[in-house]
Amino acid sequence: MSVQQVAILGSTGSIGVNTLDVIRAHPERFNVVALTAAKQIERLADQCIEFKPTIAVVANADGAAQLSRLLQEKKVATEVLYGPEALVSAITESDCDTVMAAIVGAAGLVPALAAAQAGKRVLLANKEALVMSGNLFMQAMKVGGGELLPIDSEHNAIFQCLPNRYTQNPSDHLGVEELWLTASGGPFRDRLLADLADITPEQACAHPNWVMGRKISVDSATMMNKGLEVIEAFWLFGLPLEKIKVLIHPQSVVHSMVRYRDGSVLAQMGQPDMRTPIAYGLAWPERIDAGVAPLNLTQLTGLSFAEPNFAQFPCLSLAFAAAKAGGTAPTVLNAANEIAVAAFLDEGLPYLSIPDVVGHCLNTLSPVVASSLEVILEADARARHTANQFIRDIKR
Ligand code: NAD
Ligand code: MG
Repeated sequence: MSVQQVAILGSTGSIGVNTLDVIRAHPERFNVVALTAAKQIERLADQCIEFKPTIAVVANADGAAQLSRLLQEKKVATEVLYGPEALVSAITESDCDTVMAAIVGAAGLVPALAAAQAGKRVLLANKEALVMSGNLFMQAMKVGGGELLPIDSEHNAIFQCLPNRYTQNPSDHLGVEELWLTASGGPFRDRLLADLADITPEQACAHPNWVMGRKISVDSATMMNKGLEVIEAFWLFGLPLEKIKVLIHPQSVVHSMVRYRDGSVLAQMGQPDMRTPIAYGLAWPERIDAGVAPLNLTQLTGLSFAEPNFAQFPCLSLAFAAAKAGGTAPTVLNAANEIAVAAFLDEGLPYLSIPDVVGHCLNTLSPVVASSLEVILEADARARHTANQFIRDIKR
């Protein structure tokens, strides 16, 4: 067995740390060749000291100087680079064959596309990249000829429940009738929208079942996360939007399901632990120990499923609307949401204004055909500008 050479984009985040946890347990299978992070230099330094990658990338020159100093002290010979273009170098110049795309948000798009174009095995956690650029990204995967393994737990579950031949031929649905994406409903599942006016970032980030980065935690509370995942599923699995359903499943045991024409429903179950989909993606088509405790079905009090209440979760409705509109509408949805969530987390934007910001951007910016990366980046930039302006007006 040859050793897999792995690059991790966003190694200091929740997915990045879990990925290194799986890799640490299998030194005979995986070698880390590139690690990247935005700001958590000390954590990245510790990772470099342990895994000795060829390349490490940080956001800016100050961070690079700090990282170089820390690595020199420990005589670690990792080359330190910085800036957005260096994220692409981490893929093209590191001799990696597998790329974990785990940067949060639009910042991950260009390096994820580079990995797709270069024919790598792409482990895609960075759903925003696919939401922004679905068609372009899937084309890049096809041209590059690599393998795309979804890491988002729902999509990983669906991937596991689809026939083996499905991914090779997405236009032939092989008896698949519907995809059912499960959603915990987040921390505010049973609360009325009107009662959420004073929600703080800490409350929004306290997810009942999963421990994740702050942005995706807020997205889970608003259910924008599930909306982004519907769009993600649309691109990954090539089914019409009407065949992608959302089910509220508070226990987070069934990670998603596929309903077939013959009456079968296949589900993937497990602990709510991202190391399961990460290990699956790393080792596919083999299965390796992920360090995850076995699921004990006899300890479960029950599994329940319900339709989502769209009136309670306006972000979910906005995501469906953007998905239906197509073109650059999902790009706008994603960019406006990133700005609104950051403003909620860091600048005191009220929680209930998040859907207002996203709705305003979708209403004012007409979608165009997402024909190139330039068009997508332009739509992204305009949506960010419009969202920031709208937030300034709200605050006045
Ligand atoms: P996180 O905030 O914990 O980590 C994000 C990582 O990206 C960090 O390493 C950070 O340094 C890096 N980063 C952030 N901004 C950057 C920038 N501008 N340039 C370069 N690097 C940057 O986030 P996370 O929870 O690990 O999520 C990562 C991605 O995985 C997101 O797209 C999220 O939706 C997806 N995802 C996460 C989970 C989960 O359980 N955490 C589950 C499913 C999908
Ligand atoms: Mg998910």
